[in-house]
Amino acid sequence: MEDYKEKAKDLVKQMTLEEKIGMIHGAQLFQTAGVPRLHIPPLCMSDGPMGVRYDFEPGEWKVIGHNDDYVTYLPCNSALAATWNRKLAYEIGQVLGEEARGRGKDVILAPGINIKRSPLCGRNFEYFSEDPYLVKELAVSYIKGVQQCDVAACVKHFALNNQETERLNVNVELEEKALREIYLPAFYDALMKGKSYTVMGAYNKIRGEYCCQSKLLLEDILRKEWKYDGVVISDWSAVHDTEQAANSQLDIEMSVTYDFDQYYMAEPLKQKVEEGQIKEEALDEKVMRILILMMRLHMLDGKRKTGTYNTPEHRQKALEAARESVVLLKNKKKILPLQPETINKLLIIGENGDCMHANGGGSAEIKALYEITPLMGIKTLLGGNTQIEYVKGYCREDKEEQSDRNWQEDSLKEGGGKSHKETVSDSLAEKRRKLREEAVKLAKEYEHVIFIGGLNHDQDTEGNDRPDMKLPYEQDPLIRELLLVNPSTIVVMSAGSPVEMGSWISMADTIVWTWYAGMEGGKALAEVLFGQVNPSGKLPETFYKKHTDCSAHSWGEFPGGEHVRYKEGVFVGYRYNDTFDVPPEFCFGHGLSYTTFAYGNAKVIKKEMGTEVCCTIRNTGNMKGAETVQVYLAPKNRQKEEPLQELKGFEKIALLPGESGEVCIMIEEDCNGKEIRIGSSSRNIQCVIGS
Ligand code: BGC
Repeated sequence: MEDYKEKAKDLVKQMTLEEKIGMIHGAQLFQTAGVPRLHIPPLCMSDGPMGVRYDFEPGEWKVIGHNDDYVTYLPCNSALAATWNRKLAYEIGQVLGEEARGRGKDVILAPGINIKRSPLCGRNFEYFSEDPYLVKELAVSYIKGVQQCDVAACVKHFALNNQETERLNVNVELEEKALREIYLPAFYDALMKGKSYTVMGAYNKIRGEYCCQSKLLLEDILRKEWKYDGVVISDWSAVHDTEQAANSQLDIEMSVTYDFDQYYMAEPLKQKVEEGQIKEEALDEKVMRILILMMRLHMLDGKRKTGTYNTPEHRQKALEAARESVVLLKNKKKILPLQPETINKLLIIGENGDCMHANGGGSAEIKALYEITPLMGIKTLLGGNTQIEYVKGYCREDKEEQSDRNWQEDSLKEGGGKSHKETVSDSLAEKRRKLREEAVKLAKEYEHVIFIGGLNHDQDTEGNDRPDMKLPYEQDPLIRELLLVNPSTIVVMSAGSPVEMGSWISMADTIVWTWYAGMEGGKALAEVLFGQVNPSGKLPETFYKKHTDCSAHSWGEFPGGEHVRYKEGVFVGYRYNDTFDVPPEFCFGHGLSYTTFAYGNAKVIKKEMGTEVCCTIRNTGNMKGAETVQVYLAPKNRQKEEPLQELKGFEKIALLPGESGEVCIMIEEDCNGKEIRIGSSSRNIQCVIGS
């Protein structure tokens, strides 16, 4: 590091003001300028979290449209979080890093680690969880995976970017305790333990200051308190003032407009330095950090890894993660797994059965090399001897003519994003009625029916929040009617965030949840439905009955107006529902298996590093499976500002039928005065120590 610093200092000394300015702002939409004279390359960035985004023209939001930027489509972060598997998070990060490098990128704008404060946030599918511990455990592994490929992760969006409504300007007001205990810990760990080389400042304001110019966030917390020495990159158009940005701890200004020379940290900054209003040293520090980043990535010494993309190994990882991300929500009559050999005829209903999702959602959009839909996954698994009929059952609104304009070009208007308010014309209503009638009629005739619905990237999208958790496209009446005529209908929900199920849940015996699970998602789902894979996913977030059961709505404000006040404080997600006994539809950590697990021999061993919590898990069923053991700490004499319980450890264990294994989980937190609860979900506690 000292060596890097010396070299960087030396280079900075040789640079002109203009050259320095070139390095600290976008000279293209995803690239800064290099200094060819000194052999300093530009810094090349790309979205995003589910794969490396396709390429745009350098100075225009125009898709280049060549066929060389198809990539491995990875499960979204919500899916990855549902695996509760640190190793997989590392490996998926590694795939992303290798592909980014293979595509010639230096910085991959991922992972998104904002806390899911409300189920309505349009970008929740890009984020991991409502729980800071779960987020940080997965994010740290993921970042290490990305960066071992000589590509920088860019943890985003720092901080409090928990909604899309008015995201460009909204001012977040929250108490210190919530900031420290809920919203900052994952960033701290991602940057300091995961050692993410870069971080992206958010669009919104915190306590009146824009995040990308914030003294509190960037100077007091990030640099002084945490001693972070990496590079801070602005979100695209999140800078608002030359002087404030230059004197803040922001290093690179990026934006969505084409007037690169007019960015706040471009010509206007140069002028102010020349006029003596801003000190050149402020720029030197930024350039130093960028140069050190380049050295960390081996961009200057010719020893850099090459990376690659679209390898069979990458696709295999996408499949493994997809398999572990499927959450079995309900299997009351043990209809699942289906036995392929007993099924001659199968009816599949629902638009999501045949829908591809990769190229949507905002900056997470990518060109997937391919995408196995659920229907294709089921068909390829069952083969040609099974008669499979597919009908849509419901449909989205007809899309207007696709325009060539990328949404991002207009993202500064209306607080960003596009509006997806559905208008149901008479003809659309009639079309849906017919589709429903057809599906219900067929469902009566079939013994085996699978409904595959949920959301798509018209709802789960950057730039927009949902108005509520209701299923779109009149799916509720359809599901109800299907369950009426065929009570054993299997309901598969595929979405990036929870939906209301109240109008039909008591009628449904079998519910499976899949996310945007990547290019192999349909195959993974089929394997789960037909018992080739035993589901082991657990919910990384609370599935509320309705959004008003979430504290951001019942107690705090969402989406707020000019200001949004997080009045719920630390009572986010299950911390609220458990403390104030607001029952969810499915609780945090919930997820069933085709086998059963018995918990026993719980014990605590005091160690130097903390408390080790151990227990024995036995697979008491007749199928191999995996269980995620979760440890929650609950204060014995709870103060009113404390949540009832909080996740502080977890470990996943795979067991053969009849096999037992010991799980030991290190709790770094002080356990004094706390009850240690070991469970298979936040509401299914199996052993309690210290009560
Ligand atoms: C998003 C970022 C993204 C950037 C570049 C912004 O609209 O908020 O997450 O990385 O655009 O595409």
